[in-house]
Amino acid sequence: MANKDMEEYKLAVVGGGGVGKSALTVQFIQNIFVEEYDPTIEDSYRKHAKVDETTCFLEILDTAGQEEYKALRDQYMRTGDGFVMVFSVIDRKTFEEINEFYEQILRVKDTDAFPMCLVGNKCDLESERVISQDEAKNFAKELKIPYLEASAKMRKNVDECFYELVREVRKTKKTTTGPNKEKKKSGCNLL
Ligand code: GDP
Ligand code: MG
Repeated sequence: MANKDMEEYKLAVVGGGGVGKSALTVQFIQNIFVEEYDPTIEDSYRKHAKVDETTCFLEILDTAGQEEYKALRDQYMRTGDGFVMVFSVIDRKTFEEINEFYEQILRVKDTDAFPMCLVGNKCDLESERVISQDEAKNFAKELKIPYLEASAKMRKNVDECFYELVREVRKTKKTTTGPNKEKKKSGCNLL
């Protein structure tokens, strides 16, 4: 269990069907690669993680089934502190779907920036790749979010996807609860 002073973050893994959301999540949490995972299962997992010397408590939601139902996504988007947006480097359609997730997250959060990272999964399937590293990198740059290539199968960059997102969440927290805001808050509403 997390103690009361520990940072706690709710992270959600989003993206099209079959990109490896569950494989990445289960690999991160349990260190195993699942060849077959029920595409309809939506589950959340808890894990302590030490990111840059600070331990935090992560609740990770592996989303499923909402690929076709945008209205259902609103719910988890509202509660998430950060989002891992996954596409498959061997499937252009899943790359093109990312923009929809991105736009919807910003709309639900009513902001023009939010902690997210873009992950090109299945990079072990190099001979089938249709999205080059450069194309994905440029796209992420436009969205002003980090890009990582991962392979849930080879356990390549799996931890880093989640760690990088934690760094993004921390960065945002610093700028929104910095000394100025804190001062203002304590000055005007002492409960
Ligand atoms: P989800 O629908 O996004 O949750 O996708 P899954 O995690 O269920 O993965 C869909 C399929 O892709 C499964 O057969 C996985 O074994 C496979 N898969 C997931 N990640 C990788 C990967 O990094 N490399 C390869 N080669 N296959 C993967
Ligand atoms: Mg899944």
